[in-house]
Parts: sequence; C-alpha cells; structure tokens
Amino acid sequence: MDKAFQGFFRRVRAGQKAGYPRFKGRERYDSFTFPQAGQTGVKVQGGGKRVFLHGIGSVKCKFHRPLEGEVKTATVKREGEHWYIVFVCETEPNPLPENRAAVGIDLGTNPHFLVTSEGELVEAPRYFQKAQAKLARTQRSVTKKRRGSNRRRKLKMRLARQHRKIANQRKDFHHKLARRLVNRYGTVVHEDLNILGLARSRTAKGVQDAGWAAFLQTLAYKAEEAGRRVVGVDPKHTSQDCPVCGHREKKPLWVREFTCPACGASLHRDVAAAINVLARSGRAPDRRWARTEPSGMGTAWAVP
Ligand SMILES: [Zn+2]
Repeated sequence: MDKAFQGFFRRVRAGQKAGYPRFKGRERYDSFTFPQAGQTGVKVQGGGKRVFLHGIGSVKCKFHRPLEGEVKTATVKREGEHWYIVFVCETEPNPLPENRAAVGIDLGTNPHFLVTSEGELVEAPRYFQKAQAKLARTQRSVTKKRRGSNRRRKLKMRLARQHRKIANQRKDFHHKLARRLVNRYGTVVHEDLNILGLARSRTAKGVQDAGWAAFLQTLAYKAEEAGRRVVGVDPKHTSQDCPVCGHREKKPLWVREFTCPACGASLHRDVAAAINVLARSGRAPDRRWARTEPSGMGTAWAVP
C-alpha cells in the first residue's frame, strides 16, 4: 500500500495523471513470485513432499514431476480453490535425432483443428463441446441466483472449476498434438497468425484464434527444446492456389473438395492449403501428393 501511495504522490507532484490507488480485495491476489528461488526464499524439503516458503513456512506439496536442472524462480499461485507453486528451471536442451521430413499445417475450420500437408485431419476432441455445453448451463443458473447469496457463490466456484477443467483439457490436447508433430517432423511450417488475421475473413477462421496462438506457442517451445524447426509463413492465397499447377481460384473457401479447373487435380481443400503452406517455406515440395485422387482423406489423429 505504501508503495502504491508513494507512486501516487510522486505522479501528483510531477503533474502526471495520478490514478488514486484502488482497493485490491483478496480475490484479486492470485500469485506472487520468489525471483531468486534458486538461492533464497524457497526450499524443497522432506524428499520432495514439502516446500519451505520464506515468510509462510513449510507447506505440504504434491510434485507433479521431479524438478530438473537449476531452479530460477518460484511462483505461488491460486486458481480457484487450488494452490500451485510453479518452478522455472534452467535445463539443457534435449535434442531429438536429425529428421529431414517437413510438414505444412493448415489451421482448420470446424470440425478440424488442423490439417497437414500429408492429408491428416486432426479434430479437436469431442469432450470440449460437451464441457462447453455444461459450462453454459452453469453460467445460466448463476444469473438466476441472488447477488451475494451463498448459492450464487457456490455456483460461481463450480463455474470456475469447469472453466479450469476445459482450459486443462485444451492444454493437454495441445501438448499431445505438438509432441506428435515434433517427434515426427524435423520442420513444421504453419500460417503466421499475425498475418492470418488480415489475410483471411474472420468468419471462416476467427472463432478459434486464441486456441491456435496457444497451440503454436506450445509447438514452438517443444520444437526448440528438441532442436527442430517451426516456421511461420504468409498465408495469403494458400487456400486459393492449386498446389499442383499454381492456378489461383477466386473464391474456393466454402468448397471442401478442391478440383483445379486448370489441371484437374483434386484434393481436400485444407490439405491443399497445407501443401501450399509447406511450399511457402521454400522447401522443395515432395511430389508424393501430386496425384489426381484425394490423398489420405479421412484419416484423423485420435487423441488418446
Ligand atoms: Zn491445378
């Protein structure tokens, strides 16, 4: 509080926009960090069963996995009624054996999360939709309860729990999918999202934007750790060009099947886009797909 007021008076004296300090209820505190946890403030005790936090004491913990490398920082955070300690550790990279295979991915329209240049159609797991419907139900009942009532508070907690569960399921899906791609390919080429927003209509692709950004981040760091490459390319016209002969179709977005009027090549639209994405990276295209029947359609990666 002292810091907040000192900052306030300093800004007043300097004639800046001051901004009177606001009250911050306990609900709004949800994390704090020990910036030098490796040296001071935090200590793992009892063979990994407890953690000593300076100023708080020894707390019982369940380690989700053993600590690796050198501890840098530790952040204590609360999510709903759950408390976590997040350790940031510096570790050595863990490179995978060299792999020359490259793949392009098209961030798909429903129901596909993504589609690869090898014809794999990856669906987002079904339980997302189910959980989402449940969430909407809880959300509706919250609004029916009186403000400040006990029932409302309890329902809100349930709502938070459901939100957390969906977030965790999504993260789990992203991790497994990214792991698969990184294990299988030396280079993964995707559409650059910063450009994507401008290049494509919001209606076609906008809905899942946030999910993709998170996925691509996961993909990037996994690839980095494994010594593999992830490349973002300009997605302009990737869903309009024929990957075989380069003919550009004006408005093919709504057709699932892509049949090139110039050369007769027939492909799944998103697979064609993924092949174009791959080609954008400057990799010599692999001619395996250059045949006239749709390749590998209908194969999907099931999430275990
Ligand atoms: Zn063509």
